[in-house]
Amino acid sequence: MEVIPYGRQNISQEDIESVISVLKSDFLTQGPAVPSFEKSVSDYVGSKYAYAVNSATSGLHLACIALGVGPGDRVWTSPISFVASANCALYCGASVDFVDIDPITYNLSVDRLEEKLIAAEKNGLLPKVVIPVHLAGQSCDMERISLLGKRFGFRIIEDASHAIGGSYKATKVGSCLYSDITVFSFHPVKIITSGEGGMVTTNDDHISEHIYRMRSHGITRNPQEMTKPADGPWYYQQIELGYNYRMTDIQAALGFSQMTRLDEFVKRRHEIFQSYKRLLGDLDLKLPTLVDYAHSALHLYVIRVPNGGALKANRKELFERLRLHNVIVNVHYIPIYSQPYYTKFGYDSNQYPEAEAYYSEAISLPMYPDLTDSQLEYVRESLVKPIGHQTIF
Ligand SMILES: *Cc1c(COP(=O)(O)O)cnc(C)c1O
Repeated sequence: MEVIPYGRQNISQEDIESVISVLKSDFLTQGPAVPSFEKSVSDYVGSKYAYAVNSATSGLHLACIALGVGPGDRVWTSPISFVASANCALYCGASVDFVDIDPITYNLSVDRLEEKLIAAEKNGLLPKVVIPVHLAGQSCDMERISLLGKRFGFRIIEDASHAIGGSYKATKVGSCLYSDITVFSFHPVKIITSGEGGMVTTNDDHISEHIYRMRSHGITRNPQEMTKPADGPWYYQQIELGYNYRMTDIQAALGFSQMTRLDEFVKRRHEIFQSYKRLLGDLDLKLPTLVDYAHSALHLYVIRVPNGGALKANRKELFERLRLHNVIVNVHYIPIYSQPYYTKFGYDSNQYPEAEAYYSEAISLPMYPDLTDSQLEYVRESLVKPIGHQTIF
């Protein structure tokens, strides 16, 4: 049996041709493919602006900069996320804190957030920015988070790295109806890919200008932003210290082409979700829950393996069993506060009982559009069938 990864890109002949056409064109970067990709995303999600960047990590950094995050500020996010959701605040010299997860959705718990905000307000330690992460592609309850943002005066960046193609209530994820900024990732395991890449969406004119400038060295060609009239048509000014976070046209051509199949990808992911429900429903596993206020993009399919359950294996044993069967599962994620780089900030894991319980039980099964029915059946078999030489008590 071939190797089945947990996630994998889907590349069509059209994708390949659109990349080749850029390679044969005048512009490999800063050409027309980037704005076309940006427009396809802003049209799809219903945002006023969309800016392509070379990764979601860069996008999160720019988002923090655009909201003025700096030394002395506090940024809160979910502990069950990729480290980039928190690193972006550290890049800006701010400190990071975590809000425990919800036991059903595994997203940052809005109840815990509210409690933590009430306590922080008393101590004068409110966050400047909260970064909800739409884990596995399922949106957080953004309307509630947005109301808390108004009440406690924080700004919101949605880490939607998993969630392009998903929706929340009547809006597409990325519309920024309930946030200041949304960031998507186009890494190959995500819903659509540009190789590496990300996109930042917003409806705010100032945030938009700031992100546009900081993506490219802090340089402006807009006379209104300059300190004096232009010396001539060649003139530009660097007015702050920015970065080169630009996406190439080669990447944008792939992303643009992938956008045309986005809904198809999400639809197939939902079919796989239903197949897993049928195939795994009788096993002693906790399958993922879809909530009624969101339509998940289903980036990940996370099961929880109860310790000492009927499969006679704990999470680690089941993980190893699947890998020995060539089902290359993964764990999303190791709590960020437990990473060695983060331990020096002194987090107390007792504050995150749901994240700890989740981390001890979670496995991400394969989830990507090209999975076949027979591969899905093989995943079930691999779960229930111990490896011959392995002793399981
Ligand atoms: C993948 C991912 C990122 C980083 O995305 P890149 O495009 O690889 O920089 C950030 N946050 C989350 C939740 C992710 O899954």
